Amino acid sequence: MLPMPHQSLQAAAVPVQRTSAREQAGPWHSEAVCRRDEAGLFFAPSKEPTAARLSREQAAKRVCARCPVLVDCREHALLQPEPYGVWGGLTAAERRVMLARRRRRDTDAVQPAPVSRIA
Ligand code: SF4
Repeated sequence: MLPMPHQSLQAAAVPVQRTSAREQAGPWHSEAVCRRDEAGLFFAPSKEPTAARLSREQAAKRVCARCPVLVDCREHALLQPEPYGVWGGLTAAERRVMLARRRRRDTDAVQPAPVSRIA
């Protein structure tokens, strides 16, 4: 769900959105290790300092590393795309990089091979 124009990015990144998005994502969500994110690891609280964010994200990634649906979760987050939080062991910034690489790879795949010149 995209934030409404009157919402701040911080307000849009509350865990409630993650829960509803995950529940709509497919059958894999029932096996998600993070179904009850009681520690609040996966989404940034308002005005989170950088050091705290990095620490929280690393903790979330450790949870993801032992999750049986990591691949499904990651693909869901890339396909939506989910703009906030840690999904499938990747932060939002890491997902943006991965999506850019996929787009570049897909673009390269449809480019015709260069025609060599006959001298
Ligand atoms: S991979 Fe991570 S974010 Fe995705 S369902 Fe599993 S624990 Fe949750």
